[in-house]
Amino acid sequence: MLRDFFIGLSQNQLLNNAAKKYGLKLGAQSVVAGTNIEEAIQSIKELNAHGISCTVDNLGEFVLKKEEATAAKKQILQVIEAIHDNQVDAHISLKPTQLGLDIDYDFCLDNLREIVGKASQYNLFVNIDMEDFRHLPPTFKLLDDVSMEYDNVGTVIQAYFHNALEYLEKYQNFRIRLVKGAYKESEEIAYQEKADIDANYIKLIEWHLLNGKFTSIATHDHRIINHVKKFVQKHNIPNDKFEFQMLYGFRKDLQLKLASEGFLFCTYVPFGQDWYGYFMRRLAERPQNLNLVAKQVFNKKTNTIIGVAAGAFILGRLTKSQKKKRK
Ligand SMILES: Cc1cc2nc3c(=O)[nH]c(=O)nc-3n(C[C@H](O)[C@H](O)[C@H](O)COP(=O)(O)OP(=O)(O)OC[C@H]3O[C@@H](n4cnc5c(N)ncnc54)[C@H](O)[C@@H]3O)c2cc1C
Repeated sequence: MLRDFFIGLSQNQLLNNAAKKYGLKLGAQSVVAGTNIEEAIQSIKELNAHGISCTVDNLGEFVLKKEEATAAKKQILQVIEAIHDNQVDAHISLKPTQLGLDIDYDFCLDNLREIVGKASQYNLFVNIDMEDFRHLPPTFKLLDDVSMEYDNVGTVIQAYFHNALEYLEKYQNFRIRLVKGAYKESEEIAYQEKADIDANYIKLIEWHLLNGKFTSIATHDHRIINHVKKFVQKHNIPNDKFEFQMLYGFRKDLQLKLASEGFLFCTYVPFGQDWYGYFMRRLAERPQNLNLVAKQVFNKKTNTIIGVAAGAFILGRLTKSQKKKRK
């Protein structure tokens, strides 16, 4: 219920626009590395100093205007320049819907090609993040198309999908990030129970560690991480064949511990003004993250956003149930 609440909020365009005006609020500043490139680079330098590499996400998604997608592309190109100029250990993560996937496939592909091309000049990797199921086939197609020209590109496979292993086998020779999956998907296509998702996640990780090119294991789940540590030891899988990834601001102690133990570690560093949808998904995953909000809750503007958010959600629910009744 709470998960649905925050996923519902994450897709609310009105609230997204309102949130942009307020800057980083609701506790988002602890999990978003600033609103501009300079602040993001500063955060990356701090993580690099602890032996942690970074993947940088210029926040934004579900863009429906060409100007906005073009602006996002330009911003990502600037991030690439900034990574190069500052000689920091970082690469790019991006979302296809930010580059116009919902507007026109070829337009999005051109944007992506320009970014991957620029990154390849500096030998930087580009990860295409995976969004909801609707965008899965065109996202794989983007990867197919762009990888005909460039090899510095990979994607994400979400363990909650029944078909995840098939996708993984198909993309065996790519650098792949494995995750549990962050969106709400139907039971026809995706596991709903945590135990089933975790079991499939472990199956994928083991398969890719044994058969794949390079595996990014992106999770905050210490049980999965401990399992991986034992598995790589048992199968003599060298440390340069995989890395652990976590999101910026989450389980900082564990991030530092894994890096200090000699594992490759990469932190996902989101930045920008479009933080709202990202932040709501984090609340959906782990309601305990509400602690971050609670710390901010006595701030006046924050109260306004929370009030509007709750109001919009309840109104949305009421309208839906009224519509159902009318039918
Ligand atoms: C680097 C990165 C990139 C991602 N990219 C994508 C993507 O492209 N597409 C996509 O759909 N999803 C993506 N995700 C999100 C992912 O799919 C999951 O929704 C998210 O990571 C939550 O699942 P989890 O594996 O971290 O563990 P969960 O199942 O959320 O948690 C398992 C257990 O771990 C412990 N735990 C978890 N978080 C914490 C914490 N903060 N503090 C203390 N204990 C904790 C708790 O014991 C919890 O019960 C990404 C995640 C990461 C880390």
